[in-house]
Amino acid sequence: MPLSLSRPDLLRTQNFINARWCEGRDGRTLPVSDPALDVTIASVPDSGAADARAAVDAAYAAGPAWRAVPAKQRAQILKRWNALILAHQEDLGRLISREQGKPLAEGRGEVAYAASYVEWFAEEAVRAYGDIIPAPVSGRRMMVLKEPVGVVAAITPWNFPAAMIARKIAPALAAGCTVVAKPAEDTPLTSLALARLAEEAGVPAGVLNIVVASRERAAEVVDVWLADGRVRKITFTGSTPVGKHLARESAGTLKKLSLELGGNAPFIVFDDADLDKAVDGLMAAKFRNGGQTCVSPNRIFVHQLVHDAFVEKLAARVGALKVGPATDPGSQIGPMINERAVQKIERHVRDAIAKGAHAVVGGERHQLGGNYFAPTVLIDVDATMACSCEETFGPVVAINRFSDEMEVIAAANDTPFGLAAYFFSGDVKRIWRLAEALQTGIVGINEGALAAEAAPFGGIKESGYGREGSRYGLDDYMQTKYLCQTL
Ligand code: ADP
Repeated sequence: MPLSLSRPDLLRTQNFINARWCEGRDGRTLPVSDPALDVTIASVPDSGAADARAAVDAAYAAGPAWRAVPAKQRAQILKRWNALILAHQEDLGRLISREQGKPLAEGRGEVAYAASYVEWFAEEAVRAYGDIIPAPVSGRRMMVLKEPVGVVAAITPWNFPAAMIARKIAPALAAGCTVVAKPAEDTPLTSLALARLAEEAGVPAGVLNIVVASRERAAEVVDVWLADGRVRKITFTGSTPVGKHLARESAGTLKKLSLELGGNAPFIVFDDADLDKAVDGLMAAKFRNGGQTCVSPNRIFVHQLVHDAFVEKLAARVGALKVGPATDPGSQIGPMINERAVQKIERHVRDAIAKGAHAVVGGERHQLGGNYFAPTVLIDVDATMACSCEETFGPVVAINRFSDEMEVIAAANDTPFGLAAYFFSGDVKRIWRLAEALQTGIVGINEGALAAEAAPFGGIKESGYGREGSRYGLDDYMQTKYLCQTL
């Protein structure tokens, strides 16, 4: 099916550097495919080091003028960008769904979610207050200024092609930083469309630059940014191994870092929980984007007293999920992003079953073939199975039984990761005990849908550091300068 947009110029297939749309310097290209059909829908530059350098040159040159623009004016540009994103919600939603595979309703929802960060940081831009500190000695004045860090390099994953880039670019521009960005190789079209709208909103030349590269050349582009002392911050969402690599390599120029890495979220259902709410919460948290989100519950722990009742309710809901392409308005679960992703899910399910788990629903690739995997519920899962140790990143619910609160807290925390955790309980004292004992940056309490622009999103342990969204989110793009004056 051809990709038709009401504004065809939103389908951009070139890099965006210094306000110019351009091919890669060495002319190499990269196909973008629709994961539902495995057909090529566009061809974009497969950029290299020279393009990466040109982007930094542009961002660095644009820095002084952009940080000198009054915050109110920067906020107005961001507000226009927000309005344009919302005005083109349908086209952007279609682009997201076609290149990433999520159902169209979710694609539209992601556009609104991405825009909410742009609006939020437009509003925060004018509130980057400093301080006047009471001086400990007489004859002195002590002040604190918040300043933009400088050029920011943003590297994003494929699972939320609009939201991931918006929630990095919006705070950076709000703070007065300029940006070089590399979207994921699977989903570059949405970020290029957003750049087109940013241009239209009045973002000046060089302030936002997008460089597209294949997985093979990602390191070539990003290595230039890592080595360049003019780049003062790396903001990354993606896997923990790549995040660690970025942390190591940016040490040479001691850049500021925000790393939003993988998770292995526990989801705990106690015997005092409202089971219907717990099932609703799990459905919302687990099956958004087909389970391909970093806050997806990955290890489900259900108290033995409610285990069978919970599994029965859940199995009915999961068994009824409609699987199909993004273009089918009834689809609730789209294709996985690529064959590599399906292979990982299949490996996890087979490993679990070989070690004693049972599939109550699904358990194999979906009959549609291609990149589809059947929504699955596994029971009798334990900590030795691959699905308990790594993120499955697919529509698989892996259920463990437990009987004791201390035991389940220990199991939930028994992972190097610490992004999100969820639990359902009706006991107020237990709620506080759990909220404080769980080692994660985000805790859902009787709630499965947590992300919001007003909230600080981010992890601890090997899930990374830094926060996106909320009033804390702007700080990650600013540095603190202390002024001391003798009168
Ligand atoms: P995923 O497994 O979800 O694709 P990755 O961490 O591999 O997560 O990818 C997230 C982003 O990091 C993508 O934009 C990808 O191109 C980029 N990336 C992958 N490998 C490297 C690397 N060695 N250096 C820099 N960026 C990389």
